[in-house]
Amino acid sequence: MRQGQEATPDELRREMRELREDLTLLRLAQDRLTNVAMLNAELSGRGIIGYEGPARFDLPHAIVCEHCRSPVDGLGYELRLSRGRAYLCKECFDEATR
Ligand SMILES: [Zn+2]
Repeated sequence: MRQGQEATPDELRREMRELREDLTLLRLAQDRLTNVAMLNAELSGRGIIGYEGPARFDLPHAIVCEHCRSPVDGLGYELRLSRGRAYLCKECFDEATR
């Protein structure tokens, strides 16, 4: 918006849309932060920094859930740790972040 000028309805609508988009991104970021905090509480000592998923991970080797030790062959989450990576099955992730 230019200074000292009235905003046109179009400009206002665009600004409102951008604000709503920003808000959506902020909410998602906040959810992720909350989830990371809850994961760290549940799986203490691993230094979880972030995560990817839910996704299906096609790795050359089998992966097991960091929490329940069952194979992650369906949807799961990849945890980014301060050292390396680990995986969680969807059930354990959902349980930890409820
Ligand atoms: Zn599990």
